[in-house]
Amino acid sequence: MSETLFQKIAARQIPAAIVYEDDQVLAFRDIHPQAPVHVLIVPKRVIPRIAEAGPQDQALLGQLLLKAAEVAQILGLANGYRLVINNGPDGGETVPHLHCHILGGRHMAWPPG
Ligand code: AMP
Repeated sequence: MSETLFQKIAARQIPAAIVYEDDQVLAFRDIHPQAPVHVLIVPKRVIPRIAEAGPQDQALLGQLLLKAAEVAQILGLANGYRLVINNGPDGGETVPHLHCHILGGRHMAWPPG
């Protein structure tokens, strides 16, 4: 199978502004930011989307959310932030490698668009 865009970023084949990395996850700035702070946090092991995750992914998904909160703290988002996971066409997913958006630095409206 060909590598995903985010695997290529993790492998440094495509440049990105990486803000956090450990053995399980990578976080880097979104190329088209939708807020003053917009970072994607991605599990290195590919799960295409949350709808395709299973019980074998439970620990990794928990790790992804815990690390998202840690990265938000590193980014200085003490006043709050939003975590977003887009799933499938109606969800606005464009990259089929599960990732969580960390958005902050401004007030987030509700409902989202
Ligand atoms: P989604 O639409 O939820 O699948 O999110 C994919 C995100 O990846 C979008 O917000 C894009 O702006 C972002 N993106 C696409 N290519 C790159 C890239 N080369 N570096 C950083 N972010 C990217």
